[in-house]
Amino acid sequence: MKKIAILSGKGGVGKSTITASLAVLLSKKKKIIAVDCDIDAPNLGLVLGLRQNDYKWREISTNEKAVLIKKRCIGCKKCVHVCNFSAISWDKERPVFDEMRCEGCGACLLVCPENAIKLKKVKNAYIGVSQTHGFPIVTGKLKMGESGSGKIIIEVKNTASKVAKNADIMLIDCAAGIGCPVISSIQGSDYGAIVTEPTPSAFHDMKRSLQILDNFHIPCGIIINKYDLSRNFSRKIEQFAYKNKLSILGKLPYDKKFVEALVRLKPIVEYDEKFEKKFEKILNKIMTGIKH
Ligand code: SF4
Ligand code: SF4
Repeated sequence: MKKIAILSGKGGVGKSTITASLAVLLSKKKKIIAVDCDIDAPNLGLVLGLRQNDYKWREISTNEKAVLIKKRCIGCKKCVHVCNFSAISWDKERPVFDEMRCEGCGACLLVCPENAIKLKKVKNAYIGVSQTHGFPIVTGKLKMGESGSGKIIIEVKNTASKVAKNADIMLIDCAAGIGCPVISSIQGSDYGAIVTEPTPSAFHDMKRSLQILDNFHIPCGIIINKYDLSRNFSRKIEQFAYKNKLSILGKLPYDKKFVEALVRLKPIVEYDEKFEKKFEKILNKIMTGIKH
């Protein structure tokens, strides 16, 4: 199974909207599975017309929290000083652990001379599986106030691999940004399509995404969304791509039809046929660029 990652350094540039349309078109030719790895704000399913009740959810645990074993604690305060997340406060003679702040790093366990602290597993996320447009979709959803996105994304991808053992393509809607969740999202990918906009901040973040893909030796190309908002800046991105031997996979216009499609929970290629050709071209370029 080949893995195609759709990513963007900057959030809100249309990554999920574009992924949804690519998924619909690709599913007409290949057996695919769509995966939403943007677990802080998963909305790929929404763009494809799915609601929360359309998923089969299960709770998962990829994180741990420190808890005190009161009878062993001698009140030495060593744990309080070592916690970098301010998750331990002091209450007269004992440490108090704040679950919301604890990252489960285990540093307090290491310094405790009495083994008075243990890590307990917490259910920090949900994984949902559903079906839409004739293909399966797997998504992750982080619980409010919880952490551990990177590990959850690995679980989401593992679930997707089991759900669609015989799929030809896994299409991944990556987390935004350039941190651990993005690295988990793109790991093992055979191609990375970066979605950007003709703005300085999106261009800057696109370059950071390129660096990550480069580190993992993942071939990639660029999609410029809303290119006509600033044709000058779009040309700048194209020149950058030319200079760095990067493929421009396609340029999509700013069009209110995208908003109308979103409001109706439809991928744009279904809402307005005129976009089908544009997305077909992008898809063909991606398929040609995939590692073989
Ligand atoms: S496990 Fe890490 S984050 Fe949690 S309380 Fe201990 S030192 Fe702080
Ligand atoms: S390091 Fe261990 S013994 Fe010392 S205060 Fe913390 S929990 Fe208690």
